[in-house]
Amino acid sequence: MGAVDNTLGLYLSVPFCKAKCTFCNFASDAYPPERMAAYVDQVVSEVASSHDFAAKHGLAVPSQVDSIFLGGGTPSLLEPAQMKALFRSLRAGFEVIKSAEITVEAAPGQISDALLDALLASGVNRISLGVQSFVDTESRAVGRSHTGSSCLLELERLRAAGVRDLNVDLIAGLPHQTIASWAQSLQQAINSGVDHVSVYMLEVDEDSRLGRELIGPGVRYGANAAPTESLVADLYAQACEALNGAGLAQYEISNFARPGHASRHNLKYWTRAPYLGFGLDAHSMLLDAVTGGAVRFANADDLDGYMNTADAVDVERVDALEAWEESIFLGLRLIDGVSIPTLQRDYPPAWVDAMVETSRTLADSGLMSVTQDRVALTQAGRIVSSSIFGELLAGEPVAV
Ligand code: SF4
Repeated sequence: MGAVDNTLGLYLSVPFCKAKCTFCNFASDAYPPERMAAYVDQVVSEVASSHDFAAKHGLAVPSQVDSIFLGGGTPSLLEPAQMKALFRSLRAGFEVIKSAEITVEAAPGQISDALLDALLASGVNRISLGVQSFVDTESRAVGRSHTGSSCLLELERLRAAGVRDLNVDLIAGLPHQTIASWAQSLQQAINSGVDHVSVYMLEVDEDSRLGRELIGPGVRYGANAAPTESLVADLYAQACEALNGAGLAQYEISNFARPGHASRHNLKYWTRAPYLGFGLDAHSMLLDAVTGGAVRFANADDLDGYMNTADAVDVERVDALEAWEESIFLGLRLIDGVSIPTLQRDYPPAWVDAMVETSRTLADSGLMSVTQDRVALTQAGRIVSSSIFGELLAGEPVAV
């Protein structure tokens, strides 16, 4: 019930942003920049004490790190010296292998020359650019200051500087988005030559200003100009068709890559491989050193809470049923789905048989595919994945 490999991924959160985008529901904010220095110090000390933390809780820490991901927030707002200090602390605490995938998220137009030098000097080989839309009216409406052409120039600049891998994030469901404008964004992403594109559907919840407006009344953030739910589903299907057709093959619900460019770091989350997170709202999953079972823990999701109580982390041992649920709903995010023999190796046969049987029924409706070895969602199934996960896990097995 454990991880598929014995290497470790490291995640580091930098929750600072220049301005809060209206759709954003992450634990990030336009915190005063002067708080950044103390935050970096806190993260450095968290990294330094992580092995003691693991020993105290009986957790196994794989000896080699093969992926690092700096997300946020906007890590590109760090000063070059701060960026270097974070990487120094990671390399001092862990053995980072030479071929590690090292990603930093960045906002277009906010990467200074000095910071780019610091990134390259720190071994960063992948930059994920938060474009969201190449259409200027859409970017402006959600509080972004970049333009489509400035994003393209930024990608060219990063490639010319020697960044090996580039990702572009796009969002389907932004105010003013139409089939035609979305086609324009997708085409720009394709034309830019990036090897990886992430496409997220706008999350409508109480945690963002636009989300709240879409749930309740108001037009200040453009809810009245946002696409309907069914149009968002069409935009998603449009993205799958355009990106797959351009050689960026979908490998996960939200992710598309040219061959050999799938994100190693993100694959860890979906395959339940070990990862260790540092900073605000960072989540971790390691294995219990004795039982081999998964153990999850997370840091506080508000800045003051993190700065004051970084040690007070809830450590949760994942029981067999929870591990089973995770294997299904994380594994089915992958286009290849989950391996039946692997499930049979890790879980009671009755659980696997019941899940495969439900999958066969869903396959009759065109929502899943079932072969001898694998179960997977179809494209139609991916659009309604949440309800499918609910159905697959509805008759929860009794723990054995
Ligand atoms: S979307 Fe990115 S840049 Fe915008 S507020 Fe959220 S974390 Fe910051």
